[in-house]
Amino acid sequence: MGFWKNIRGDYRAVFERDPAARNRIEVFLAYPGFHAIIIHRLTHMLWNAGIPVIPRLFSHIGRFLTGIEIHPAARVGSGLVIDHGMGVVIGETAEVGENCLLYQGVTLGGTGKEKGKRHPTLGDNVIVGAGAKILGAITIGNNVMIGANSVILKSVPDNSICVGVPGRITKKKIVRMTTEEGMVEVMDYFPDPTVEKLKELESRIDELTRRLDSVERIQGRGGRMRIYNTLTGKKEEFVALDPALVRIYSCGITAYDHCHIGHARSAIVFDIMRRYMKYKGLKIKYIRNFTDIDDKIINRAKQEGIPWDEVARKYIDEYYRDMDSLGVDRADVEPKATEHIKEMVEMVKGLIEKGYAYVIDGSVYFEVSKFAGYGRLSKRDLDDMVAGARIEVDERKKNPMDFALWKASKEGEPSWESPWGPGRPGWHIECSAMSLKHLGETFDIHGGGADLIFPHHENEIAQSEAYTGKPFAKYWVHNGFITVDKEKMSKSLGNFFTIKQILSKFDAEAIRFFLLSTHYRNPIEFSDEQLREAEASIDRFYTTEMRIRDFLSQDNSGDKAAADEKALEELVSRFPSSFSEAMDDDFNTALAIGHIFELIRVLNKYMDGRPSGQGAVEVIRRSGNLLHDAGNVLNIFTRSPEDWYRALMTIKNISLTEEDIAAKIVQRRNAREEKDWATADRIRKELEEKGIILEDKKDGTSWKVKV
Ligand SMILES: [Zn+2]
Repeated sequence: MGFWKNIRGDYRAVFERDPAARNRIEVFLAYPGFHAIIIHRLTHMLWNAGIPVIPRLFSHIGRFLTGIEIHPAARVGSGLVIDHGMGVVIGETAEVGENCLLYQGVTLGGTGKEKGKRHPTLGDNVIVGAGAKILGAITIGNNVMIGANSVILKSVPDNSICVGVPGRITKKKIVRMTTEEGMVEVMDYFPDPTVEKLKELESRIDELTRRLDSVERIQGRGGRMRIYNTLTGKKEEFVALDPALVRIYSCGITAYDHCHIGHARSAIVFDIMRRYMKYKGLKIKYIRNFTDIDDKIINRAKQEGIPWDEVARKYIDEYYRDMDSLGVDRADVEPKATEHIKEMVEMVKGLIEKGYAYVIDGSVYFEVSKFAGYGRLSKRDLDDMVAGARIEVDERKKNPMDFALWKASKEGEPSWESPWGPGRPGWHIECSAMSLKHLGETFDIHGGGADLIFPHHENEIAQSEAYTGKPFAKYWVHNGFITVDKEKMSKSLGNFFTIKQILSKFDAEAIRFFLLSTHYRNPIEFSDEQLREAEASIDRFYTTEMRIRDFLSQDNSGDKAAADEKALEELVSRFPSSFSEAMDDDFNTALAIGHIFELIRVLNKYMDGRPSGQGAVEVIRRSGNLLHDAGNVLNIFTRSPEDWYRALMTIKNISLTEEDIAAKIVQRRNAREEKDWATADRIRKELEEKGIILEDKKDGTSWKVKV
């Protein structure tokens, strides 16, 4: 290519590559990169003509003027652009193809001691980023991009990008496509491992979102529930095994004594779980068993001098009485151990056949060392368990941790026939056999109090999974302990309160409220003080309820705005989702109750402003409805305020009847009409001393019980 043609190409390239190049004069006078090229074209021509010294001298002057060093011997194709050229060095044997673009500080240099060609060759349409160094007699192919500050030490094929130190080569993807001009090759994109990974993750997230959405549509109301799973030690999203029917099993009581408040907590936790899932539109099958044969029942029968089965019947009845008063619903199936002996014998037989159990003198034991996952739920190591075992060691057992599946019965004890002689089932096998019968091999949720994790639930897993070869329960849910003076409440410590003892002093709703006001997994400190606080909170609800009723029944024809209307409206529109979010988050009833009382607080403040008009009626009615809906899920706040006060009168042993109070109110009204203030005041005080508070309203006087 001729000298002038090259210069013209270089000149055009400046306009093509540099959008800021506006006119010829500017480019001719003020573009050092362009000057360097013109000088180089001149020195290169002189160099080729074999003229000594002069080309190097001119090149040296050029470098002095432009900061760009190009050896006169370098072969540079037409259309080279050097942008901000300071420090660009193009070595002696370098060859630069057409339409290349170099940024500042680029070195096309030589390395090593080899004679002959020591500098790189650049193909056509190459772009070299600022500060890049291309060293040695390597070849950079056509259409290559070299990233800023890269150091390129080996040849780069066509259509590549090259970044890093030393330069890492990535081929551009070429897509062949047919256009009007026939088959063309188009560079599609620069593959970037990070971007590709992100894209892959994005599509996975999309896929998972779609799947979750479809599950939610089946599940109905609200978002996703998260449940803390003891098995994994994590809060997990709840995905039902069969979205059409959620299957839950909780371990019930051994019927040998009155229930204490710890039993109430466990029953209420599962009651709430079930109510909330139903509220979300899920169908539930809930099983809660009764252990109606056990050493404790046999001992109790001896103590009370009645047959063992009468003991079981008696305390099952007592259980129902307690739970009914606490608002705990019956389970869908409430199987009793003695009604499932056949299923248990079947399971024990299977475990022996599969080599997980062995027989000693008419008793059958489960061999824990045969079950690989033993200790998984309670996070214990079998060897540690054995070392720390304080259980009575039966010398005949293979391992101290082996547990009885079937117990040979002693003389005079209740017994059932079995292949190993007369006996009765061990405690753990009951739940495995009954859940298998009523819920199938694998079901969704299993749980109970945290004291059941080991050994009871650990043993259930071992038996069931060894027998069926399938996973047992997917989510394990355990409620925390109740403490008294910071010590765990338990029968063995004797620091327990039966439900009946507490019901003699407090209303059942207060007990339920108290148990729900702490998250179910946290320990909960029991005291009369706490129950009184629960009572005060419930009273606040019913007082608000009364106020709502009074408001809605009065004449609201005015149009008086009250402060906090915005705050209340906002809270009302947010409330359903706040409530659901709290409950979705591992049944956080404590937070849900917090939201209820926030609404009560703002609502009362709003009503203090005595608003009127249709808007006020609407927002107050809606608030009331929301409080009821939430209360229905938790099964609290379902009475009328009057029923609540009546209950309080009974529980607080108030010596007055409702008729007495009504009569006193009439007496007082008459006194006031006669302006006998002293008598009216005396009546009010008299009632207050007996625990009744009067409230004067527009259309009369109402009363409530002091809490
Ligand atoms: Zn159980």
